[in-house]
Formats: sequence, structure tokens, C-alpha cells
Amino acid sequence: MSRIVMPFYVDKNPSLQVIFRDVTEQKQNLKHVIQTEKLSTAGQLSAGIAHEIRNPLTSIKGFLQLIEGEIPPHSLLYTGIMKDEIDKIERITGEMLSLSKPQAYQCQEYNLLNLINDVITLLTPQATLKNVEILTDFTMEQALFTCDKMQIKQVFINIIKNAIEAMERGGKVLITTENKVNWLNIHVIDEGSGISDQHLYKVNEPFFTTKGTGTGLGLTICNAIIKDYNGRILIDSKEQKGTRVTIQLPI
Ligand code: ADP
Ligand code: MG
Repeated sequence: MSRIVMPFYVDKNPSLQVIFRDVTEQKQNLKHVIQTEKLSTAGQLSAGIAHEIRNPLTSIKGFLQLIEGEIPPHSLLYTGIMKDEIDKIERITGEMLSLSKPQAYQCQEYNLLNLINDVITLLTPQATLKNVEILTDFTMEQALFTCDKMQIKQVFINIIKNAIEAMERGGKVLITTENKVNWLNIHVIDEGSGISDQHLYKVNEPFFTTKGTGTGLGLTICNAIIKDYNGRILIDSKEQKGTRVTIQLPI
């Protein structure tokens, strides 16, 4: 809120004119610019550096495997850690590449519900291992949408994976659809750890992660893709209760 105070006279009586201005939007715009700037920096980084990192990394990994047999048993702990760390770098650079790689998009009309079901089939083994059940409650037979199949699947993979990962002790992930005028809302609802208010505004930032093996790029990629389709992603969350991620698409 900004404020301007001006003294003046009404019929020789001293008066004050006060003007209040709501600058919330202005501030949000600035935040948006910063966010976009970070994104494009992440994109440039991916294009330039990720590739350069992956090649030497491959040889480090290869030689490490080669000498593993000669390493004394008491040092195997260290090589184990080294391999885990190399895997993590590979995951991050892999996601950075997918963020910036100019891909040949193939847009076609798909039934979104089929794409979601494909993703569920793909993730069910991992979910079952973690005692997570993935359920759907679709309010329609089909939701036709022109898109690149792989991109949209990527979005659902990232978001459903986050839901599974948020439920340490298992639980349910429910995917529902909601028809609005001109919009289709797809909700991915979990009963997991939720996101604290402190973290909620950071989750879309590139590299923000609360997970040991996370890259913090999942939601960044999802937002970039959905924005390309003129949609948006909204997150509602209550700590210890769960999270609802809504993917809004213009249909
Ligand atoms: P990553 O999964 O690699 O950490 P993401 O960009 O996918 O990166 O997510 C960023 C962070 O947002 C996560 O580390 C987690 O803290 C939070 N988050 C995202 N989805 C959920 C969810 N469904 N429940 C709880 N926390 C979530
Ligand atoms: Mg993720």
C-alpha cells in the first residue's frame, strides 16, 4: 500500500487529502519478472553447461566402476557415496537438458483422460511399493486437447510423483476432473506431508527442493509446459493434511 497526504483548505478550514494506492499487483509483477528471469537463466545454464558436465561425468563414472575391484573394502563406503552423488548430478543435468532442449513437438488431438491413465499405469508399480493407491474420479468420458503427448505426460508424471513422494507412510492419490466454462481443471490430490506456508511460494522456483534426491526442477518444468498451452498450475496445501495441485487448461 502506498500513501500520499496533501494538506489543503476547504472554506479556509485546513484539511488533508489522503490517497491510498494498492500496489499488490505492481509487486506481484516484479516477482513475476524475477521468476521469469530465473527461469531463463536456468534455461541458458542447461543449454550451455549441462551437456559439458555430462561427458566428463560419464568418464568419471566409468573409471570408478573399472577400479572398484581394486578398492580396499574399508573404502567401498566412499565409492558408494561417490556413485550416489554422480547419479544425482546426472539426474539434475538430465532435467536441465529436458528443460531447454529444442524438441520436435508433435501436436495432435488427444483424450487427456487416456494420457492420464497411461501415466497412472506407468507409475503404479512405484506407487504400490510405497503403499500408495492412485484413484481417479473423472466427471466426463473424454477431454479432447491438442498437445504434444510427451510434454503433457511429463507434467502428470512430475505432479503425481510429487504426490507419491509426499506420502511417506502411504495413502491415496486422487485425480479428478472439473469442467468449468472454457476451462478444464484436473486436480491431483494427495494425503501427504503438505507444504508449509514458508515453502509454498518457493516450490515453483528452479532448484527448490526439500528432498535428499530431489532436483527442484519438476514443478519448474511443469509450469513452463502448461504456460505454453495457456494454462496454469495452482497449488493448495495444508501441512500434515495434504496437497491439491490443479492443472487448468483452456478447453
Ligand atoms: P523435487 O520433486 O525434485 O523436489 P519439484 O519441483 O517437483 O522438485 O518440487 C519442489 C518441492 O515442492 C518439493 O521438494 C516439495 O518440497 C514440494 N512439493 C511439491 N509437490 C508436493 C506435494 N504434492 N506434497 C508436498 N510437497 C510437495
Ligand atoms: Mg518433483
